[in-house]
Amino acid sequence: MPNLVASGDNNTKTRKNVGYLAAGLSMAPHKTAGVGNVCGNASPACVAGCLNHQGLASVFATIAAARESRTVLWYQERQWFLDTLRVDLERWQRKADRVGMELCVRLNMFSDIKWERFGIPQDFPRIQFYDYTKHPGRVGALLPNYWLTFSRSEANHSATIATLQSGANVAAVFYQHGKFVGNRSGRQQLPKTWHGYPVIDGDTTDLRFDDPRGATRGRVIGLRLKAHSKAERAAIIASGFAIKARG
Ligand code: SF4
Repeated sequence: MPNLVASGDNNTKTRKNVGYLAAGLSMAPHKTAGVGNVCGNASPACVAGCLNHQGLASVFATIAAARESRTVLWYQERQWFLDTLRVDLERWQRKADRVGMELCVRLNMFSDIKWERFGIPQDFPRIQFYDYTKHPGRVGALLPNYWLTFSRSEANHSATIATLQSGANVAAVFYQHGKFVGNRSGRQQLPKTWHGYPVIDGDTTDLRFDDPRGATRGRVIGLRLKAHSKAERAAIIASGFAIKARG
């Protein structure tokens, strides 16, 4: 079993976190490990289009196996998991201190676990934790060191609008018509606004806790639709998970 918390440099999501030492915990999303559900509010389309099978995971079967192992341990050896997670985070904090950088950690790379219920962010006040979530109300600065960005799907439109109205930020996936598959996905244009709320480019960095914060109106964190094939892209668009960008 590899470490629970791995370097953010090994993941396409967190590799862009320039200026911070980044680390993340990757489990097997939703029910894919066959032992429980780590994404309580997942929608059918987000499960189908979950990015856990992209990047290096599409090449090395060991990556998926490690994610499944961690998920099985989460359900079957909870105390061991939490103890080991704490040891891992202490090790990462020492590493951050050695190199003189601030440590940011994303515990839900492919899950939506309420880590605050297990006291993890509370026990590491020097670490900046951040995650995306589909749990309504669990948004914004949940704790001084835990930032949550609500994640829009095809099934949570009213919660998305309510979240923006409350002043919290929402991540949403946009697409443009065209052949934007694989490496070309980054060429898609994001709209300037969505439902009257300003759209910020969320693909330049994964440092969501550094995003602008509205006092009374949230920001839309625009992400470009990423798909490996035309068929996958067409299926995600048909599901309503991605929004057509209108400029
Ligand atoms: S909630 Fe997030 S991690 Fe879970 S299946 Fe959906 S997109 Fe993947």
